Amino acid sequence: MGGGERTERIETGQDVPDAVIHGVPKAIRDKLAKLGITRDFDLILHLPLRYVDETHLYPIREAPLHHTVQVEGVVVQAEVRFRPRRQLVCLIEDATGSLYLRLIHFYPNQVKALQTGARVRLLGEIRQGFLGLEMVHPQFRVVKEAAPLKENLTPVYPTTAGLSQASLRALVAKALARADLADTLPEGVRRELELMEFSAAVRYLHEPPPDASLAGLEARDHPAWQRLKFDELLAQQLSMRRHAQLRRSRGAPVLNRQGELTARLRARLPFRLTAAQERVVAEIARDLAQPHPMHRLLQGDVGSGKTVVAALACAQAMDSGWQAAVMAPTEILAEQHYRKLADWFEPLGVRVAWLSASVSRKERAEWLRLIAQGEAPLAVGTHALFQEEVEFARLGLAVVDEQHRFGVAQRLALHNKGMNPHQLMMSATPIPRTLAMSYYADLDLSVIDELPPGRTPVLTKLVDESRRDEVIARIRAACREGRQAYWVCPLVEESEKLQLKAAQATYASLAASFPELRVGLVHGRMGVREKAEVMEAFKAGAIDLLVATTVIEVGVDVPNASLMVIEHAERMGLSQLHQLRGRVGRGAAASVCILLYQQPLSETARARLKIIYESADGFEIARQDLALRGPGEFLGARQSGLPMLRIADPTADEALMQAARDLAPRLLKRHPEAVERHLSRWLPQAEEYMKA
Ligand code: ADP
Ligand code: MG
Repeated sequence: MGGGERTERIETGQDVPDAVIHGVPKAIRDKLAKLGITRDFDLILHLPLRYVDETHLYPIREAPLHHTVQVEGVVVQAEVRFRPRRQLVCLIEDATGSLYLRLIHFYPNQVKALQTGARVRLLGEIRQGFLGLEMVHPQFRVVKEAAPLKENLTPVYPTTAGLSQASLRALVAKALARADLADTLPEGVRRELELMEFSAAVRYLHEPPPDASLAGLEARDHPAWQRLKFDELLAQQLSMRRHAQLRRSRGAPVLNRQGELTARLRARLPFRLTAAQERVVAEIARDLAQPHPMHRLLQGDVGSGKTVVAALACAQAMDSGWQAAVMAPTEILAEQHYRKLADWFEPLGVRVAWLSASVSRKERAEWLRLIAQGEAPLAVGTHALFQEEVEFARLGLAVVDEQHRFGVAQRLALHNKGMNPHQLMMSATPIPRTLAMSYYADLDLSVIDELPPGRTPVLTKLVDESRRDEVIARIRAACREGRQAYWVCPLVEESEKLQLKAAQATYASLAASFPELRVGLVHGRMGVREKAEVMEAFKAGAIDLLVATTVIEVGVDVPNASLMVIEHAERMGLSQLHQLRGRVGRGAAASVCILLYQQPLSETARARLKIIYESADGFEIARQDLALRGPGEFLGARQSGLPMLRIADPTADEALMQAARDLAPRLLKRHPEAVERHLSRWLPQAEEYMKA
């Protein structure tokens, strides 16, 4: 018995009666664990993929081809044949017709059982074979005349090697008999929402009556399915709202002054904010003035101008007498933010602290001192900003750029410092509305849905790798005209080392192809300083062609670069391609993005390239990406710790999602005991997921 494991299960499920699956040998428990099943309730929530109908017999002549059907007949002929290979062939006949049962693998006892005169019941697909109608390797058994039929449709479960359907069915049946299936929803609420009773719903799905519609069951739109999807979505909403409540119960500094700094920053900006930027600035300003921490996600497509919005939020924090911090996931991006913010704020007399791996120890110590004494009101950096020795005197606002790139651990780090600053998260990966409602229910959302004026759309071209020479000629011509270009090296999934090698090889060969051009290289393994120098040179126009790995994917802003070549575009994900392409089209010049791909293309790769070719709208791309990948992968949910949905799909089940969203606050307010029951049934580990 796996002692440690078992104890842990008992702890996590302590509120649930019969939490642990009883009387099951360890080997089976391990298999179940692979399916995510550790409690009786997990068995109950382990729902069938499909069903087969063993409740009635088809007359052989009427049985449809290529569908799983059950027929019964008497063996009228049985022989082991040797051509074209050894096989057992039996002719089975009922009152309406006959078919062949063909077994290629068989045991002597099966030959014995399938003798002439035996009555057999077969479950499988009938097809037209060489000999006539046949079933190859169906499920079958010898039966007596008028042997009883199954009373319910037979569920087929997702399973794993070594765990048979029969064992799973037996385990589920036992769990159904043993577990407390009482409804978690108050009766009045259940009736009002016209939801099926929970116990009836799970029984129906595991043991559907013979007259149930297979099509309805498999399309998952039967009321029983609706009930389970609703419950799952409700659990997700409840859990996130509870955390939102918890957060609101903590105090936060009231940052309600938009004073001198804000006004002077606005006056310094070389552009006017777009209407969308003004709207989100106002939304954030309102939150900052509340006495509980803001938890807001700022979404805006690549290039929509999130940085200035963050800067204005920081100005408000500083105007109110508090410190602000801006954190980015990569050195390149953090450095860029630092330069931009320093450029905006230092002339206004604000000391901007800069903490990253590139800062010398001495400098770092000095910044730490200024931050701790509150003399540096604004700090910018990578996650180095939230390391232990960094102590803010009065941190009022933390801005986290590209928040999805930070793991749970880093978010916890902020939390564990005992700080309760307002939090502004920014992301260029637009999350479709339905998903945001579902997974980010505890986040307030601001969206910049408009690009600054004067952007020229990027022309995207798909080019087969065999035409690489033409692409090289094109780059040469463009750079001669004084334009700048990125050459993005292929992603090498196997290892970073290989990726580096590939980048260096590409660099060498391009540098050789363009002796007259200034070619630079930037990659993830470079020292921070080196990286920054290259980026600076590129920005200053001292490099014509920048060979880069995907380190430039996020946030890099060099408006004069108007050409981009992405090698092996077929290996990259959609959001990555969209982000990369967003590096061009930032200035006034017409921009081109060339996606080089290598045949043969997988179906998904083809679909991705088609989407990125056809659309420039980040939200549309995200929507399609979601459809291709499913919500878990799309959000990187495992890594980010979001509770995963197993049954419901917030996109397809939008109406249920909305109903769950509406009910959650009411339930929390009026039926806290129902909330407890519901969460311990559906999300026994939710507390851990959501700590961050
Ligand atoms: P992202 O949302 O991708 O982080 P940035 O904040 O880097 O976008 O902004 C992209 C570019 O657009 C920057 O050069 C920025 O200075 C510029 N910009 C931002 N807002 C405006 C605006 N309202 N009008 C013109 N240019 C703007
Ligand atoms: Mg940005």
